[in-house]
Formats: sequence, structure tokens, C-alpha cells
Amino acid sequence: MQSTSFSQLSLHPSLLENLKTLSYNEMTPIQAQSLPPILEGKDVIAQGQTGSGKTAAFGLGLLQNLDVKKFRVQSLVLCPTRELADQVAKEIRKLARSIHNIKVLTLCGGTPLGPQIGSLEHGAHIIVGTPGRIEDHLNRGRLNLDNLNTLVLDEADRMLEMGFVSALDLIFSLCPPDRQNLLFSATFPDEVKPIAKKLMTDPVTIEVASTHDESSINQVFYKVDDNRHRSHAVRLLLQETQSESTVIFCTTKRDVQDLAYDLKDYGFNVLALHGDLEQRDRDQTLIRFSNKSTSVLVATDVAARGLDIDSLDTVINYHISTDPEIHVHRIGRSGRAGAKGQALSLFAEKEFNKIGRLESFLNIEVVPQELPSNDVLENPIVKPAMATIQIDGGKKQKVRAGDILGALTSKGGIAGSDVGKIQITDNWAYVAVDAKKSNTALTKISEGKIKGRSFRARILK
Ligand code: AMP
Repeated sequence: MQSTSFSQLSLHPSLLENLKTLSYNEMTPIQAQSLPPILEGKDVIAQGQTGSGKTAAFGLGLLQNLDVKKFRVQSLVLCPTRELADQVAKEIRKLARSIHNIKVLTLCGGTPLGPQIGSLEHGAHIIVGTPGRIEDHLNRGRLNLDNLNTLVLDEADRMLEMGFVSALDLIFSLCPPDRQNLLFSATFPDEVKPIAKKLMTDPVTIEVASTHDESSINQVFYKVDDNRHRSHAVRLLLQETQSESTVIFCTTKRDVQDLAYDLKDYGFNVLALHGDLEQRDRDQTLIRFSNKSTSVLVATDVAARGLDIDSLDTVINYHISTDPEIHVHRIGRSGRAGAKGQALSLFAEKEFNKIGRLESFLNIEVVPQELPSNDVLENPIVKPAMATIQIDGGKKQKVRAGDILGALTSKGGIAGSDVGKIQITDNWAYVAVDAKKSNTALTKISEGKIKGRSFRARILK
């Protein structure tokens, strides 16, 4: 039987030691299968999605290859979205805490070029970014990959889906031939194969039988008549489940907007996430949902990629996806970290073909259940536990989480236990506070000082 302890791996002792401090005691299935070949320096193709522990699998691989004394770009991680890139960079920094002076830089589209150029001039060991922006920096000669030893493609399927093929081709052509390639993908559509073939030498392929634990997800299907009925059905399900955090997946942007509008009308605290939003609005939406100041998120599949939420109780499929793998990916977002989740799917008569595909893919029999009766409308609508305060100062103004916490909890303020996630972007900071204390918290921030300065702030509604 395969042991799942990290200690059996030939990892640098300082990396192993740090894993202990992170309480990463056992390897996840994808780590147990991929880390041995990765640490042998082999090219690896692995099936992995958010929540499987894939980031640590390739992160440990690239850190093992790194020589921190050589201040050159040695690893490049390509991701489809900025949200994912930020998340990956964060995880790599965590894994690299024991290595002094290591520099991890994110280079993503949708953010200003100027600061990136400055950071590139200062140099980095590890770059995490989106293909378009990396291509841009390469084209302008600002980024040099001559010393690269590890190339990682994360969510390769999405990068191809989002049309990054030519950017990827250019990037590959500028990487030195002698390097290790790691490709992670949630699904393996035909488009991924030529990329893998072009990129890799004799790769080891890893298929984790189930990266999500289906048995910990309670799947229920409901038959509905039409779209009008669908949004009423969602309302019934939300009022029955009373979940703190629910994501509702829709296939189109239009459905996202319409459903979010209906739910708002019914009194739910809801936000919509789709590809047409401005970057700042997307950031804010993700922040507000993940810090529990919004209970319902209505999203398209692509926009929800990179969403990192630990305790998502419920996923609702407004329409069943035509692709069973996408369905599996969606429902895998509930019941993370051993918690029991539920996936509730709506379908209409004309979607029977999708149900058939899903039944054979998952080897299940779909028996539709009755929707809750209108009696559940008597239940209260779940209000978010937290509220988000947006502060008009971020990294550029040198605002740090500790300063905000200090301002909030100083004399006459709120208790530290009333403060939730603090997230800092370039120009803004977002702090989650207990919803009942939000006015006191806002007063402390607006009337107090952070770093000796006053900042404007507001509660996001
Ligand atoms: P990922 O699939 O890479 O997005 O990782 C999902 C979450 O699991 C992240 O928050 C990681 O910090 C965490 N994680 C990864 N590997 C382990 C492990 N072996 N033990 C405990 N937590 C882990």
C-alpha cells in the first residue's frame, strides 16, 4: 500500500519541515501519485482541480528544482485567470516560507503594466501569470526565460478554452529545451493532447480516480417546467437549505443576470459573476463571497474558476451542463475538506439527453425529487454573517492587514474575533466584520487613522 506521508519523499529537509508547520500531514491523492515522478525530474501530466491539492504538487516540484542563490527566473507557472494566478502564488509563497529571499512574482492581464515592469527589473525566481501578459513581456524583451528549469501549465484545459493557444506557443518557443514540464488539467479534452505532445518528453500520466469525493456530496435532481419556474425553484431550494454559502451555476451570462435579478427581488443577498464584469467588480464579488458577506453567488463556469472557498455548503445547477466533466467540476466545489456538501440540479424535459449522459458518466440513476413546497417561503432568508468594509487605501498606500486590525480593535472599537478576512489589493483594502458591528467598525476606520493617515471607507452593499 502506498504511504501518504510527505516524509518518505526526497524533498529538501527545509521544505519538509515547513509542511509540518503548515499542518500538511498527509499527501492528498494527487500529491501521493504525482510527487514521486515530479521529484525524479520527470514530465508529468496530471488530472487535478481546485481543492485537490494540485498547487502543492507542482509547487513543491518547482521549489525542489530551485537554486535561490541564482537570482534568475527558474520556474514559470501559467494559469488561465488572474484569480487562479493569485491563489497559486499565495500557495507557493506559503510552501516556500523556509527559503529566504525567494521572490515570487505574478504577471497577469487586467492589471497595470508599469508596476510589473518595475518588478521585472528587480528580478524574480518564480513567475506565475496568465499567458497573454507573459507573452507581452516576452515580446518586449522584459522577461528572459533562459534559466528556466520548470514550466507548469495549470488548468491547461481552460487556457485552451480561453483562446491562449498562440500565446502558449510563443512562450514554449522561448523556453530552454532542457527543462521539466508539468501539466495539470481538470479535464482532458482533445485540444490538450497536441499541447502535451509538443511540450513533453515521455510524460508520466496521472489519473486520480476521483479528485472529488463524490460520496461526500449529496446530489439531488429536480424537474422543472421553464425558466420562470426555475428561478422560483431556486428560491424554494435556498429557503429550504438555509445555507450560509451557495453558488448557482448558469450556462450563460444572460441567465446569470436574470437569475441574480430575480433573487435580489425575492430579498436574497446575491451577487453575479460573469466574464463581462470589470476586473475590479470581479475582485470585489469574489472577495465579498469568500469572506461570507454575501450568501449567494450566481456565476458562469469560466468566471467561477479559481474561486477558492473552503466551506461551500451548496451548489445549485440552474441548468445541467452539457459536459458531464463540467458537472463533476461544479459539484466538486461543495463538500470540500471533508465537510458534507450538497449539489442540487434543475432540469427540464428537453434536457433528458444531458441527464442520460450524466447517468452513464457517473454511473448513477437520476430519480427526480419533489421540490420543497411553498411552505418553505415562511422560513427566514439567510442573511450573511459578515459585512465588507472597503477602504480607499491598499498596497500602494502601504496599508497592511495589521494596521487595519489595529484601527478596528483600538479603544472603543470592536473585538478581534469580530474581524474576518482582510484582503488587500493595489489601491483598496477589504475587511470583513461581523454584520452586527459594521457601523461601529466603519466609524473606527473613517474617523481613526491607519499609518497616521485618514482613509475613506464604506460598507459595500
Ligand atoms: P489546491 O487544490 O491546490 O487549490 O489546494 C486546496 C487547498 O488544500 C489549499 O488551501 C491548500 O493549502 C490545501 N492543501 C494542499 N495540500 C494539502 C495537504 N497535503 N494537507 C492539507 N492541506 C492541503
